[in-house]
Amino acid sequence: MSAVLSTHGLVARYGDFQALYGVDTELGAGECVALIGANGAGKSTFLRAVMGLLPVAREMVRLDGEPVGGTAPDRMVQKGVAIVPEGRRLFTGMSVEDNLRVAIDQAARAAGKAGARAGGKGGWTLKRVHDLFPILAEKARTPVQSLSGGQQQMVAIGRALLCQPRVLLCDEISLGLAPKVIREIYAALPEIRAAGTAVILVEQDVGLAQSASDRLYCMLEGRVTLAGKSAEISRAQIGEAYFGVG
Ligand code: ATP
Repeated sequence: MSAVLSTHGLVARYGDFQALYGVDTELGAGECVALIGANGAGKSTFLRAVMGLLPVAREMVRLDGEPVGGTAPDRMVQKGVAIVPEGRRLFTGMSVEDNLRVAIDQAARAAGKAGARAGGKGGWTLKRVHDLFPILAEKARTPVQSLSGGQQQMVAIGRALLCQPRVLLCDEISLGLAPKVIREIYAALPEIRAAGTAVILVEQDVGLAQSASDRLYCMLEGRVTLAGKSAEISRAQIGEAYFGVG
């Protein structure tokens, strides 16, 4: 597999507290990989470390083989990595469309600065995001704070896609949502992958993670305890890796 993104002995700390202890992962082009594990296992920390939101050594994160660890988040966006962060972090005083336009402007600036090295070739436009999540067209003028949680999550995903990522990092996009809404959001994944974007899904719901991904990694206390093809991993293996028993 030629990895679009890989981590090599990834270590991350919050001050004196070490949260990741040498995490090795690979994400193939167009692949969907799930990262599961109990609360506090280090899943969000992993995404933050990859995105440049935590200091990590250069060699610990590679994008198409190029060492990029510790690169500032805006530069990571330019290089083709976007994140749907925990808690969504939308601009709450702004409409749905204005939130999406911020990403369009950011991508345009990044493309201008980075020239031929600009991130992805996904060709995401406002129209395509509206096709993916039609409710966002209906609610274009609505302030995001009056949307439901699921609709806000759609804005957060749309905003990340408009950065034209080759790699999309999703931090618990199903959290707190009703099953029907979760299905709607997960139904967008095949189209996102068809646009050439590889996805890392941090997901608390193990069944959902397993069914949506090609491969999965299970983490426990800052280490990978299980890695394999999602369709081939048993519930018993996941149980052991998740809780550290067996
Ligand atoms: P959750 O599902 O609860 O988000 P997680 O697997 O994403 O879990 P992280 O949020 O990555 O876990 O946390 C990993 C460890 O790092 C935990 O022990 C957590 O308490 C600690 N941690 C996370 N953020 C910080 C921070 N800003 N400062 C100090 N410690 C932190």
